[in-house]
Amino acid sequence: MDTIDRLLANNHSFAETVPEKHLDVEPSLRLAIVTCMDSRLDVFAALGVGEGEAHVLRNAGGVITDDVIRSLALSQRKLGTREVMLIHHTDCGLEKVTDDGFRAELEQATGVAPSFAIESFDDVEGNVRQSVRRVRRSTFVPHRDVVRGFVYDVDTHELREVHVEDAA
Ligand SMILES: [Zn+2]
Repeated sequence: MDTIDRLLANNHSFAETVPEKHLDVEPSLRLAIVTCMDSRLDVFAALGVGEGEAHVLRNAGGVITDDVIRSLALSQRKLGTREVMLIHHTDCGLEKVTDDGFRAELEQATGVAPSFAIESFDDVEGNVRQSVRRVRRSTFVPHRDVVRGFVYDVDTHELREVHVEDAA
C-alpha cells in the first residue's frame, strides 16, 4: 500500500469516529497564521488552535509572496479575520540554499529560469522582520494593527517573538 492509500484508510477511520460538525467558514479567532511547510511544525498542536478557529497559510519558508497577500486579502475582506501571526522556524530548508544557486540549478535542470523569487535567507529573525513589514505595507490587507512575527524552535517547540519596528 502506498502512502496516500494509507492516509485514505486513516481518513476513513477518522470520519467514522469524529462526530459530524457544521463549523462556520469564518475562523472564530479571527486570526490568520502564515508559516513554513516544514513537517516538524504542527501548528494546531503547538498553538492549541482547533479546527474552525484560524486560517493557516503555508509555503516554503512562510514567506510573504503575492499569493500569501492574495490569501490574506480574502481572509480579512471576505472571511472576517483581523490579526496576522507569522511563524518562521529554526533549521529551515530555505537557510540551506541560496537564491542564485537554486535558480541556476532549476535553469540547468529544465532550460528555463523561474519567474518566481526563491526567497532564501540566512538570518531567520531578519526574515521575520522582512515578512512582517511586507504585510504591514500591503494595502490589499486592510487590518494591519496586529501583525506579529515569531521564530519557532523545532527542537524545544518554544515560540520566540521578534519585535518589529516599522522602518521609515
Ligand atoms: Zn522552513
